[in-house]
Amino acid sequence: MNFDHSKALLVMGLRSAGVTDRDVMAAIESVPREIFVPPVLRHHAYSNVTLPIGHEQTLSQPGIVGIMTQALDLNDRLKVLEVGTGSGYQTTILARLARRVYTVERHKPLLQAAEARFEELKLRNITSKCGDGTLGWEAQNPFDRVIVTAAALDVPPILADQLTLGGVMVVPIGYDSEFQTILRVVRTENGFDTQELRDVRFVPLIPAEVGETG
Ligand code: SAH
Repeated sequence: MNFDHSKALLVMGLRSAGVTDRDVMAAIESVPREIFVPPVLRHHAYSNVTLPIGHEQTLSQPGIVGIMTQALDLNDRLKVLEVGTGSGYQTTILARLARRVYTVERHKPLLQAAEARFEELKLRNITSKCGDGTLGWEAQNPFDRVIVTAAALDVPPILADQLTLGGVMVVPIGYDSEFQTILRVVRTENGFDTQELRDVRFVPLIPAEVGETG
């Protein structure tokens, strides 16, 4: 299948979703989204829609991936923590823009599939593990950027703690899918500055003790 035409349309659609950062657009354009999508849905790979990836989880719309990535204000000196690897699509975009990405996923089969994709794309600056991402990654603490790709009830405190001074976290807040909003949290000398970016719908962030992983 040739995706050139639908990919060009997608990139144009990103603009109307509010994605203006050229590096973010270029990263989205450079990543073959079709390899992150179940084979039967490949013809939808470049539609601006949320797609199922198994285990009741979803691959976010490219527009949302773009908005969240843009809000992180990445460059190649920064170390990023991602909570919720899912298909690995967002991870791959981050890896194109940051120095190193640490990513945590609670569902082992999803993580393994994502790791196979990182291998296929020869991405060498991603470190991944299976576990509860709300606990952060203590051995790699602190992070310049943190991105959570599942909706939390509130800003996860351990993740906020693992931000550098001046560090930025982007996290969707709210369990009820009707009332979720993406927050951009900046760590300052006096605490945290929080800004609401826009309303969204995400699957919930689940602490490890609530369900079995795998
Ligand atoms: N960013 C992903 C989509 C994520 S869907 C992509 O581009 O495909 C959200 C993911 O967060 C799911 O895979 C879900 O299993 C994972 N998740 C939810 N709670 C989590 C937790 N506490 N720790 C780690 N991963 C979690």
